[in-house]
Amino acid sequence: MSDRPDLRGLLQDELESWVAELGEMRYRGRQLARWVHGRGARDFQAMTDLPADLRRRLAETSRLTTLRVVRSTTSADGSTTKFLLACPEGSTVESVWMRYADGRRSACVSTQVGCAMACTFCATGLAGLGRNLTAGEITDQVHAMQHETGERVTHVVFMGMGEPLANLEATLRAVRLLNAPYGLGVGMRRITVSTVGLVPQILRLAELRVGFTLAVSLHAPDDELRQSLVPIAARYPLDELLRACTRYAQRTGRRVTFEYVLLEGVNDEVHHARRLGKLLRGLRAHVNLIPWNPVPGLPYRRPQPDRVRRFAAALREAGLPTTVRVERGVDILAACGQLREAHTPGRTPRRVPASLAAAR
Ligand code: SAH
Repeated sequence: MSDRPDLRGLLQDELESWVAELGEMRYRGRQLARWVHGRGARDFQAMTDLPADLRRRLAETSRLTTLRVVRSTTSADGSTTKFLLACPEGSTVESVWMRYADGRRSACVSTQVGCAMACTFCATGLAGLGRNLTAGEITDQVHAMQHETGERVTHVVFMGMGEPLANLEATLRAVRLLNAPYGLGVGMRRITVSTVGLVPQILRLAELRVGFTLAVSLHAPDDELRQSLVPIAARYPLDELLRACTRYAQRTGRRVTFEYVLLEGVNDEVHHARRLGKLLRGLRAHVNLIPWNPVPGLPYRRPQPDRVRRFAAALREAGLPTTVRVERGVDILAACGQLREAHTPGRTPRRVPASLAAAR
């Protein structure tokens, strides 16, 4: 079974070669690519313009990764639907569908089952790494959500479970498939890949001159504080990380986004903002502040809106373009890894207190 190729992970030219091996004309591969990556077909039977015989032989010789919806929850305001999706072999990942008033539809996808990075405030990090997802498992999260919602994606963010740059080949392949004209055609400028800050991989992306938005999780203005929140930071000091980001910006012409999760009393004081301003001065940077989404059992607090405003104002004063992430889905456990955790057998699902959900 597993030595059969997963068509969901193959680029159009690879699909053409595959059908050629089956003795078919190459244009059948292009038809196949539109079914698999454009329409996100759930099975071979749906591919009605392929001869029945070819469909049967494809089903016998190949696989088509199709994720199953285990559970979905929609926030009270209807803006966010969170999905728990099962891979064919049973492991589950989380994906989120976000709706914006201007019509945008953003898919947040996972790149790994679990995560090895163990950031201290993140729910996904608690359980450790299961395995890497394949490109087909990454892209099918978007197809599965389109299928379920009946809506069409406009943006994709690689900000779900896992560290995308620790699964670089599959991530790059998934980006190409989502961007391809025979796929969903999501523009490179509408694709964001978020990383904990793996320097060698960022440098590789710079050399490849990929055009997506790179978002780097900074979370602190100095090495000591950063290492206390993001263990892997011990391997890549801030000066090295920022040099790699500068290189990425130079080579791609794209401004790098820095993410900064705000933890009350830990990294959200005005002096942190001022230091961050100094640190990023001269970089073509943009800062996205994320007030911490509470994870039950973790010893942090989400700052009140006035503290968030104060921090953002100090950054802007330092000349940094700054946005605050609009909180979505706090009432549906939309923070990384929370839905999966609540759904794991043997664990007591822990509800987000109504007071927090209401505080949005
Ligand atoms: N591994 C990638 C993607 C992680 S998820 C990375 O580290 O960037 C995307 C962002 O959400 C990261 O900045 C991550 O640090 C942040 N995040 C994780 N848990 C969070 C929580 N409970 N509340 C707010 N942001 C969180």
